Amino acid sequence: MIDKVSNKFKTMADVRPTEKCNLRCKHCFVPPNPSFMSDEQILDMPMQLSATGVSGTVLLQWQR
Ligand code: SF4
Repeated sequence: MIDKVSNKFKTMADVRPTEKCNLRCKHCFVPPNPSFMSDEQILDMPMQLSATGVSGTVLLQWQR
């Protein structure tokens, strides 16, 4: 399924708007991190991608 979707995009970008997670899964190995992206940073992503030479269709993969 993901291959069928990802083949339609020229670029894939992982976006992690926050590293705050309080679900406390017992198996979790991710250390808590209070950092997060501001609304302005999220809205500026197309410009940031463009500035690094990215063009065409982009698949944004949102992660916690
Ligand atoms: S980051 Fe994922 S695995 Fe870790 S506590 Fe949050 S939801 Fe659970």
